[in-house]
Amino acid sequence: MIGRITTIQRMSLHDGPGIRSTVFLKGCNMHCGWCHNPETLSMNPELEWIQQKCIGCNSCTEVCPTGAFSLKDGKPDFQKNLCTSCFDCLQVCYAEAINKIGREVTPEDVFTEVEQDFPFFSNSGGGVTISGGEPMLQPEFTKQTLALFKKAGIHTALDTNLSISWKQYEKVLPFTDLVLADLKMMDNALHQKWTGRHNTTILENIYKLDASGVPYFIRTPVVPDINDNEAEISAMAAFVASLKNVKNYELLPFHTLASCKYTNLKLKNPMGQTQDLSKERLERFQEIVKYTINHREKGGQTEDTE
Ligand code: SF4
Ligand code: SF4
Repeated sequence: MIGRITTIQRMSLHDGPGIRSTVFLKGCNMHCGWCHNPETLSMNPELEWIQQKCIGCNSCTEVCPTGAFSLKDGKPDFQKNLCTSCFDCLQVCYAEAINKIGREVTPEDVFTEVEQDFPFFSNSGGGVTISGGEPMLQPEFTKQTLALFKKAGIHTALDTNLSISWKQYEKVLPFTDLVLADLKMMDNALHQKWTGRHNTTILENIYKLDASGVPYFIRTPVVPDINDNEAEISAMAAFVASLKNVKNYELLPFHTLASCKYTNLKLKNPMGQTQDLSKERLERFQEIVKYTINHREKGGQTEDTE
């Protein structure tokens, strides 16, 4: 069993409880405009060029068979659309300005790499998280990897957009201690526009997850000019309040830290001019969520959602 991953991130504090090792799988069936991990969008291995590290030795332009690396105004330049991912340039770039993103591993490889982190897990209540990309595009690899850690007594989490057929989730949930489920927008047309998919399957799957008995969190990326308005946040909070078994609802503020990834991968950044979500706006939305959920729990109705 082989899976495609980009990296295993150690000491993560944002992918579930405690200190975690997060395995990022390659490939996603959504293309969210605000994606913080654009290197995981494509299922295929790809090249990253860190221009700041380039010393202009021209070795890449000499070996590149397609002209993807060529001279422009006397300096090396990379044109992604010409690259066939042969990675000949990788071998000759001693400045390490060129990286290959994506590698193939077995579940056992992942287990061996993460094993050294087990002491951190036990001291912090952490574990391993399978993320992406969308890990459920590689359901058998995800299942077998989760199963290995579960068998070893390690806490397992699955970070998913919940847009895959529920039949696939049924296969992995027996090996999953916690699901981190995304809820991006209630407005279906906007959801389609900004992610490339409608939210109908996601909402249905959240209800199924709620009934499954597997603990889960819901998380919403809050993105300026997309879903950072009170009506949308209130609608999502009301939906979350209608669920019986959700353990936590978290708002994740948009930030611009990923913009250099788009530059290095030569991908268009749909959020190119967008600024970080401010602390004040995040706090305002957190208040709305708290009010909406508390009000529903007391049997009341919120003004915004009726
Ligand atoms: S991976 Fe191959 S085709 Fe792409 S830039 Fe490098 S040498 Fe050229
Ligand atoms: S081989 Fe590396 S350092 Fe040399 S020109 Fe190409 S990218 Fe720059």
